[in-house]
Amino acid sequence: MTTLTRADWEQRARDLKIEGRAYINGEYTDAVSGETFECISPVDGRLLGKIASCDAADAQRAVDNARATFNSGVWSRLAPTKRKATMIRFAGLLKQHAEELALLETLDMGKPISDSLYIDVPGAAQALSWSGEAIDKIYDEVAATPHDQLGLVTREPVGVVGAIVPWNFPLMMACWKLGPALSTGNSVILKPSEKSPLTAIRIAALAVEAGIPKGVLNVLPGYGHTVGKALALHNDVDTLVFTGSTKIAKQLLIYSGESNMKRVWLEAGGKSPNIVFADAPDLQAAAEAAAGAIAFNQGEVCTAGSRLLVERSIKDKFLPLVIEALKTWKPGNPLDPATNVGALVDTQQMNTVLAYIESGHTDGAKLVAGGKRILQETGGTYVEPTIFDGVSNAMKIAQEEIFGPVLSVITFDSAEEAIQIANDTPYGLAAAVWTADISKAHLTAKALRAGSVWVNQYDGGDMTAPFGGFKQSGNGRDKSLHAFDKYTELKATWIKL
Ligand code: NAD
Repeated sequence: MTTLTRADWEQRARDLKIEGRAYINGEYTDAVSGETFECISPVDGRLLGKIASCDAADAQRAVDNARATFNSGVWSRLAPTKRKATMIRFAGLLKQHAEELALLETLDMGKPISDSLYIDVPGAAQALSWSGEAIDKIYDEVAATPHDQLGLVTREPVGVVGAIVPWNFPLMMACWKLGPALSTGNSVILKPSEKSPLTAIRIAALAVEAGIPKGVLNVLPGYGHTVGKALALHNDVDTLVFTGSTKIAKQLLIYSGESNMKRVWLEAGGKSPNIVFADAPDLQAAAEAAAGAIAFNQGEVCTAGSRLLVERSIKDKFLPLVIEALKTWKPGNPLDPATNVGALVDTQQMNTVLAYIESGHTDGAKLVAGGKRILQETGGTYVEPTIFDGVSNAMKIAQEEIFGPVLSVITFDSAEEAIQIANDTPYGLAAAVWTADISKAHLTAKALRAGSVWVNQYDGGDMTAPFGGFKQSGNGRDKSLHAFDKYTELKATWIKL
């Protein structure tokens, strides 16, 4: 636990120098147009600074530099052992600057400082070092060829990678991409969300300090429809990796088809079912996990357990436990180390969440917890963790990703019905099952169309296992060695002996 108090963090926030410029070829630089946009903190509505509003001209500069650096071989052809050492140094610098990065993250997107410091920054550093550590332990293949042939199956970096990331875990999502993209030798252009650009801008300089050659990692802050689109349509970007909404993910596939058919890997939205059977081994633990699954990170989590499916026979006993558990998740000032729910990222997102709450009422669901904006006097954007009971899976609040702390409780009578409801969504990111029956656990897990399934827990996982979605939650996987597939091309070389 940090020894810093809220007053300490507030003092540091006042002293903080905000860097808002783009980072191209190892230097901070204004947008070519000179345009900027305002970075407003959701903590209290304060202006944090002006951010470079990059567009196609900046994308062109960054791509040119990234391409030149890639072709020079200064990073792409460096021995994997050396890339490994550099990535580990890069991760070390994130840890060394943990407090500064955590503060930037919290001020920028409103999450609790304790989460930023103990989850986001270490998770981001781990993504860099894990991928770096792996890169000199992966071997290529020799094919089972006839005697007079030698068939080499090798992996090569794809070249220039455009990485477009969201605002809910700005640093961690960026590093899930940067870890494998950089470790495999690519040059990268990172486009953070316009709602949370600060940590991405900061770590660009740390990468160079770690020894990653200038031009290998470039960061372009700006809007999606300007610089994001320019990258996605650029004919010299080889691969686009994306985390964000399903709506924009679909748009990127179109941009790829309209340009150079760049590879597009998508980590998109979710509407994850959390299924609690009557024979769950520990209802109290299940209730606490259900509350955390919707309140953690203000519900702004792609894998949020936003649909709680409860077997009818235990509903009346179980729901009060969840309501009670949710009381421990209280929105408060994110700079207070004791706060576990912060502000929603901005006014727009808050209004979206409040509109979904309104739609729950209109559709006839029963509000049993929360439901209101609070702490308005702070100037920040805070919404109470909210539960609707009596939700049918056809309702808007059960079908659409709210991306806020709003839980829909749906009742079922059999495993078949639970699976049918769970899969009745365009998404397929994650799911959880609570049961003491090992066969039921396995059979349900197999039947769930989701990239991650948790049994008797919610939201487990680390760098060792792949993460990503079925259906419209995306394609490809972040984390684990499987992530390397996105950043490498397979080459078959046939040598006549
Ligand atoms: P978003 O799709 O609105 O934006 C994501 C990024 O795309 C931003 O950087 C944005 O500027 C950019 N963008 C927007 N329009 C663009 C365009 N036309 N061309 C190119 N880029 C464009 O998503 P968001 O609101 O930032 O993030 C929330 C979403 O992210 C949720 O749907 C959530 O589920 C998803 N998410 C998924 C995962 C996962 O691993 N599957 C993880 C975290 C978040």
